[in-house]
Order: sequence, then C-alpha cells, then structure tokens
Amino acid sequence: MCTGWPASGRPRRAATRAPATSSSSCLPCSAPCARRTPRRGDAGLTSSVGRRIPPRDRVRDCTARRGDHGRRTARCEGWPPLSAPADTIGAVVTDEYGRGPVPHAQVRVDLAAIRDNVAELSVRVGRAEVMMVVKADAYGHGLVPAARAAQAGGATWLGTAVLAEALTLRAAGVTGRLMAWLSSPGERWADALAADVDVSASAPWAVAEIAAAARDTGRVARLHLKVDTGLGRSGVPVSGWPELVDTALKAQAEGLVEVVGLWSHLACADEPEHPANDSQLAVFLEAVAQARRHGARPEVVHLANSAATLTMPDSHLDLVRVGLAAYGLSPMPAVVSPADVGLRPAMSVRARLALVKRVPAGHGVSYGHLYVTDRESTLGLVPLGYADGVPRHGSGGSAGPGAPVLVAGVTRRIAGRVCMDQFVVDLRDDDVSAGDEVVLFGDPAAGEPSAQDWAEACGTISYEIVTRFAPRLPRVYVDAALAEPR
Ligand SMILES: *Cc1c(COP(=O)(O)O)cnc(C)c1O
Repeated sequence: MCTGWPASGRPRRAATRAPATSSSSCLPCSAPCARRTPRRGDAGLTSSVGRRIPPRDRVRDCTARRGDHGRRTARCEGWPPLSAPADTIGAVVTDEYGRGPVPHAQVRVDLAAIRDNVAELSVRVGRAEVMMVVKADAYGHGLVPAARAAQAGGATWLGTAVLAEALTLRAAGVTGRLMAWLSSPGERWADALAADVDVSASAPWAVAEIAAAARDTGRVARLHLKVDTGLGRSGVPVSGWPELVDTALKAQAEGLVEVVGLWSHLACADEPEHPANDSQLAVFLEAVAQARRHGARPEVVHLANSAATLTMPDSHLDLVRVGLAAYGLSPMPAVVSPADVGLRPAMSVRARLALVKRVPAGHGVSYGHLYVTDRESTLGLVPLGYADGVPRHGSGGSAGPGAPVLVAGVTRRIAGRVCMDQFVVDLRDDDVSAGDEVVLFGDPAAGEPSAQDWAEACGTISYEIVTRFAPRLPRVYVDAALAEPR
C-alpha cells in the first residue's frame, strides 16, 4: 500500500526521508495512493475567506522512492494488528500503568506524519526556523517520540509550556534548542539553566529571579523577553516593555543572562482577516525595534503560531512556533483543511468492539435512555469512555446525533451517553462481530472521521480532542524508529 505523501519541496534541514506520492506524480508506486487529496492549486490557494495561502515550492519527484512506500521500521510487539498491515504498527512505547499492551483500544501515532508535516511547514516558512511545540504531552501524541520525530523533520527548536515538560525532554536525552515559556514565581530556574532550557520573562521580577539563579549556579541564562502585543494573556504590557528590556540588558551586562529572544503571541491568527493580526505584528515589530535601540541583540524574534505560519508570511520572522499544524490538524478548519496545505493527521484513536448484540425496537441505550432504538437493531459496545478522553459531549440521542465512529466501513454515530469507560454505537443491520475495529478518528483521506469532525460534534476544537486522550490508553507508534535517539 502506498502510504506516502505528495512530494514536497525538499526540506531545508535534516529530514531523513521526505515521502512522496500523489496520484498524478507517484508513478513508481505500484499501488494506488490512498493519500492523494486534491489541492486547490499547488501554486498557492485562496482560502474560503479570500486570503491567499502563500504558495510553496513543490518538487514532484518520487522516482527515487520506489520501495519506500509502506516500509515501516517498527515491529508490533504484542499488539494485535487492527486494520493496518502488521508491519505498519509500531511498538507500544508507553503505557503509564505498566500493564503492557491491552488489546482493546489504542492511540496510534504516526511519527512519520509528524516528521513529514514539520518538513512541509519548514519549506513553507523559507529561511525561518521551526520550533515544534510539544507542550501537553505533545498535544497528546507523546512528548519524547513526537519531539524526536519533529527533529527528524527539521525542527531546530522545541517548545513547551511548563518547565517540567522541558526537563522531561532533557532527561530523555533530547538535545537541541528548547524553550519553556510558562513560569510562576519561585520557578525551578536553576534546573532550567542546568538543563540548558531557554526561559522567558514577562515581568521584571522574573528577570530578577532568573538572574539570581544564574548567579547561584554560575550558568548564563538564555532569556526570551515577551511583550503583550494584544493577546491580553502573558507578556509585559507595551507600557512596561522598556523597563523589562532595560532590566534584562542590565543582567546581561553583569554576565548573568543573554537576551536571546524577543517574542509575542497572536490572538486571532485563526481568523486571517481579523484586524488584530496586522496590528499585533506592527506593535511587535515596533517593540523589537525599540529593544534594539536599547541595545538588545536577539538571536531570534518570533511571533507566529500554526495559523500564522499558514496564512501570514510577514509574521514568520526568525522562528515559527508550530503546534497543531505539525500534528496534521488545521487551526482554522473553516479556512483550510490539513490536506489543503499538505499535512496529514498523526493521531488516530482505535478500539475493538467489545460486544455486539441484537435488540428490539424501543430499546433504551446507556444512562438516562437518551437514545432509544427506532427499530430492531444491532448495538456495538466500544470500550472507551470519558476517562479515556472521549468527550461526554459526544453523546447522541434526543438532543442530536453523537460523534462519528467508523465501524466496518460505515460511519455511525454514538448512541446514548458516553460513560466513563464505554459507549454504544447503533450499527443497524451492519455485518459486524465483537473484535471488529472501530476508528473514532484518524485520517479522513483513509475514510476515517477526523479529529475536527469530533470537535464539531462535541462543540470544541480539535486541539482539545487530541490533547484529552491521555494516560490510560497505550500509545502505539508507527515508524517508531523515529522515536529513537539520534
Ligand atoms: C501552544 C502555543 C503555540 C502553538 O500553537 P498552535 O496553534 O498549536 O500552533 C505557539 N506559541 C505559544 C506561546 C503557545 O502557547
């Protein structure tokens, strides 16, 4: 099976292998490519709100790649293959409960997708570097494996929210530039400095604490200064920027810190037409100019998140901080789908039907009988619930259809309430048995519901869908070799 991805321009940096294919150009591939998704104009496309998505260079040449398609590096260790061929299923790398592979459900993460998405984004941003944002256990994909896969795709920076995440990466032996940006008074600054983690300050007190830690440990802190250009979240207000910069430059003059970054974060980048975008960029560039006039000589100035990376080339500057897009999801689904911009989802959530049974018409289903069968029907029990991360808002019944689930090639909807550990699907007269595979979401190019479909069914965003599938489910990595240290 051709599991590759349409040819991209060659990644600028260390991508080890840029899988290539499209139905039009993947001639050497012996099987039809499942992943070709029509692009609205490869030379750049116009979003549904009229903003032009910047073009990117596409070199369609996969002649050298024959034989690469479908080859996977990981072995399946004890995990029964679901629909994918056995050799596409990676080892279970983590199971926080130490119980080993449990044959009922899994979060499957395609590390090659993360690598390829980063390579794709890296080409798109030209000379800017890519920071892979791996906060929140890499948006639920697994902190260390995702970080390493991103590095294989050319990410030269990693970013986390809290310091503990960054320290976990270092403890696992992950090298390269690493920044943790969310801290509170009394942060373990010394640990950050010892682990060579870049830190951020949004107020003079933070600079003072960081400088003190530098004095205590004898290590120079790599410091990014954050200005609030309009998000109203972290960052010093513009009025306090000169004082923050001067405080940091004074600590720099004392040899305690090095101001390596100036940065800010956008509020409305997922709405490309929103006036706040241009205004925040202008405020940021002025703040950078002001800091330079005061003597700052940063290595990197950075502003863009995934949405800005895709729609606001002016915001790319030295470094883009990409999260969601690198996991193959769109931060602005009304504007572009992931496939439109050459990205594919890395995560799928899969299970096996735990029970299948025939019930008569008028049978209530799950707590509260929110759903009642309208005819004799087959019910399928899925052994996943809200304790696993399935949103209870995905329940289906009188108030509306539940979240979609692919069973035996048919997309069905959750029937009745999602419980703590299980939910039910009305399979009508489908020919199914206990043990058959259920896909909650995955790659729409393979006919699976998307995380975005789930977000819409549950009244949230795809960020929340993927991040909530947390500890109880084993992670199964496809192309697990990408999680190895290099
Ligand atoms: C989470 C985060 C990002 C990444 O956002 P995406 O929309 O997922 O690309 C970038 N910068 C900061 C400061 C963040 O907190």
